[in-house]
Amino acid sequence: MKGFTSKIVHSDRQQAVEHGAVHKPVHDSVAFSFEDAHELAAVFQGKQPGYTYGRQVNPTVTALENKITAMEQGVASVCFGTGMAAIGTTMFALLRAGDHVVSSAFLFGNTTSLFNSFDRQGLNISFVDATNVDNVANAITAETKMVFVETIANPRTQIADLKAIGELCRQRGLIYVVDNTMTSPYLFQPRSVGASLVINSLTKYISGHGNVLGGVVTELGTYDWGAFQNIYADYRKGDSVRWGITQIRKKGLRDLGAALTAQSAHDISKGAETLALRMERQCSNAQVLAEFLQQQPSSSVEAVYYPGLPQHPQYQRSQDLFGRSGAILSFELSADRDLWQFLNALQVAIKSTNLGDNRSLVIPVAQTIYHEVGPKVRADMGIADTLIRVSVGIEDVEDLTDDFAQAFARS
Ligand SMILES: *Cc1c(COP(=O)(O)O)cnc(C)c1O
Repeated sequence: MKGFTSKIVHSDRQQAVEHGAVHKPVHDSVAFSFEDAHELAAVFQGKQPGYTYGRQVNPTVTALENKITAMEQGVASVCFGTGMAAIGTTMFALLRAGDHVVSSAFLFGNTTSLFNSFDRQGLNISFVDATNVDNVANAITAETKMVFVETIANPRTQIADLKAIGELCRQRGLIYVVDNTMTSPYLFQPRSVGASLVINSLTKYISGHGNVLGGVVTELGTYDWGAFQNIYADYRKGDSVRWGITQIRKKGLRDLGAALTAQSAHDISKGAETLALRMERQCSNAQVLAEFLQQQPSSSVEAVYYPGLPQHPQYQRSQDLFGRSGAILSFELSADRDLWQFLNALQVAIKSTNLGDNRSLVIPVAQTIYHEVGPKVRADMGIADTLIRVSVGIEDVEDLTDDFAQAFARS
């Protein structure tokens, strides 16, 4: 089976599920037993695969990890309780005090917060405009170990110079981490631009229904861990392609304990089966809504940010890399209009944080997710006081355009 969706819906069956069940069942046992004590020791010592303790391994979680690995065409994946846990644990496990990271400045706000914490605790993080590879190249020092970017940034939809940064990382021997949450492996596989590790928040498009938290990191098998000095002696065993991901699971997940539960893994697996169907609909809805907003008079809409609009600075990059342009857009309401009145007039789009839900969600950015950072950072990030982010759902598209039209008329 080659197709993206076929591989997901038939994934559990490939592993011979108990009793011929077509879904991997929810295994809620924390511990796993062995008839022979030698076997218990062999699993502990990594000489034999198997399950020991639920903080690091669980069969239901493994079934989801296999699906994500297939989606990303990777080597192996490790799941976590949230997307933030996936990012934090990956960096915790692979980096040490004094190491330098070059990161995109256009990041999910909580990732910026995490990187600022890491920076205070001994890592050095440089934030650069990663839409141009030159800015990344100029920030590299002798201590740089990793480059971290997102695909489409939230909320202003900048697209990193993904391909050129991949080439730069390959030349300089750097770990290239791509947070693929906004595109999902259906629109984009970071393997195609030479990424080493991919992060996905499972909370967003992959689960899709806004009712479960999760995160994952996937090893793509492109980075030479044999030359990376931060791998501990215990994990320098077997195929060096797996050294990094093994250290993330065995050291990172053990030390920090941000494990995904079996029930959450099961819920995410169910959602993941329809990722392609939902994403197609959400992207086409977002394109229609972006064009609709773009056509509004400047007395209603000041600017629209969506990579599927030809005037977007990375329109061509989006077409080349993703084909479509994702399901997040943002727009600046005209200063003549009252932000709160407009938002309150919307009937279909829900006023809520989160993104990647089947339901369309709207949020005023400066007053909520970018409130804590203050006006200076907002100005640097190009976040106007009237900026509204829309996470476009799977509703019938006329209901969305009608909703925005009536909100303009009523506010
Ligand atoms: C939401 C999000 C995260 C964090 O995921 P959680 O599951 O909410 O912890 C990380 N990166 C991006 C791009 C996100 O949108």
